[in-house]
Amino acid sequence: MSRRITIIGGGLAGAEAAWQAARLGVGVDLHEMRPQVMTEAHQGGMLAEMVCSNSLGAEEVTSAAGLLKRELRRLGSLFLRHAEGARVPAGGSLAVDRQRLAAGLTAEVESRPGVSLIRGEVHALPAGDGPLIVASGPLTSPALAQSLTGLTQRKNLYFYDATCPLLRAESIDFTRLFAASRYGKGAADFWNIPLDRARYEDFSTALAAAETAEVHESEKRLFFNACLPLEEIARSGPQSLAYGPLKPVGLVDPRSGSRPYAVVQLRQDDLQGKFYQLVGFQTRLKHGEQRRIFRALPGLENAEFERFGRMHRNTYVNAPLILDRFSRCRQDGRVYFAGQISGVEGYIESVASGLACGLFAAWDAQGREKAELPADTALGALLAAISGAGWRDFRPCKFSFGLLPDRGDEPRDKKRRKELKAERAGEALERWIAKAGI
Ligand SMILES: Cc1cc2nc3c(=O)[nH]c(=O)nc-3n(C[C@H](O)[C@H](O)[C@H](O)COP(=O)(O)OP(=O)(O)OC[C@H]3O[C@@H](n4cnc5c(N)ncnc54)[C@H](O)[C@@H]3O)c2cc1C
Repeated sequence: MSRRITIIGGGLAGAEAAWQAARLGVGVDLHEMRPQVMTEAHQGGMLAEMVCSNSLGAEEVTSAAGLLKRELRRLGSLFLRHAEGARVPAGGSLAVDRQRLAAGLTAEVESRPGVSLIRGEVHALPAGDGPLIVASGPLTSPALAQSLTGLTQRKNLYFYDATCPLLRAESIDFTRLFAASRYGKGAADFWNIPLDRARYEDFSTALAAAETAEVHESEKRLFFNACLPLEEIARSGPQSLAYGPLKPVGLVDPRSGSRPYAVVQLRQDDLQGKFYQLVGFQTRLKHGEQRRIFRALPGLENAEFERFGRMHRNTYVNAPLILDRFSRCRQDGRVYFAGQISGVEGYIESVASGLACGLFAAWDAQGREKAELPADTALGALLAAISGAGWRDFRPCKFSFGLLPDRGDEPRDKKRRKELKAERAGEALERWIAKAGI
């Protein structure tokens, strides 16, 4: 007799995981807090609700979304079957009627023998001896997120995704800046805007008084120290920025021969050098305020914004430190993380991660050995990428062809290279299916 699996979260990943485990004959308790407790993005109580776009990406197998979808179809994904049934016209992409997809999928999971759908918020990881899948998504309830820090430590659980403003290179007056890295380390990789004391104080004061996009009370408590918005730092004290993201240590302005009072750094964002990021400038300021305050900095008077800085709630673990190749927690082998909270990004990636975790956890529950997904497959490459990434600056990851390993015989032509990798992925997946016996 196998043990039962507990799954927290009936979103894209959790619903798929539940169905896959049940298919292998393993009992599942699937907990979903909606509709009793809602998130700020979901609209109703159905499982696998797509909260925003209705697109599941391109279909051709030489696209990342296409290859991943082909693998999910081959592995019998519940979500993709319902997506096909809810398809709406979208050229070469798969787009769906979101309501119809969620309704059909929910009805099937609810009536599936072996799956018990339990409505209500889970506040902490439940005790038990069966495998546990945490699939509570980017909008994990605050109570559960707090309790997860017991497992991940606070510093390895991120609550926000922050993006710094991105400026168009041609709109920056580089003659007002100097190129240097701190303490002369490496090449002069940063462009630096030197600020004297008066300019720094003006900047800090303007930031502290600026208008911010609305923040929920409950969200304020979740700000993580390493990822504080720039304006919050400014509000914490007049010198806070000078000791934080604007610290001048290790930098000498070649024109004055001395260390500036404070420094704003710009880092190249793309290979062609078309865009530059304002380093450490994650912010919740309204767009008009970003334009007004950042354009007051020397050299940025005419800066054009390719993207404004922003922050949004996105709960995810530092996967390279927390997870192994099976998305299983290194600190507690009973616990798996699936979907966006595991460090993957996107609808299809979340379904893929849920599907894999459902199978892995079911094998655990049955006492069977788990077969690692080959790195030549899109799904295997995705799981390998999140568990094997650099942990210092880990960010959620989408599947791309670049994650598939080179074997040395790839043609130079981009399209042919992708065709070959897609072919290899298909063969590797068939071998894995045969080995795993599913
Ligand atoms: C606002 C927003 C827009 C997005 N738009 C897109 C997009 O357009 N395209 C795209 O590819 N990706 C998008 N994403 C990213 C991602 O693909 C989706 O969030 C996707 O739904 C993730 O799947 P998941 O299963 O990990 O999480 P979810 O689908 O969010 O599922 C998690 C489930 O867990 C439940 N839950 C949370 N906490 C608890 C608890 N304590 N107890 C019980 N249940 C709980 C939630 O109610 C939810 O049903 C978006 C994300 C957000 C936040």
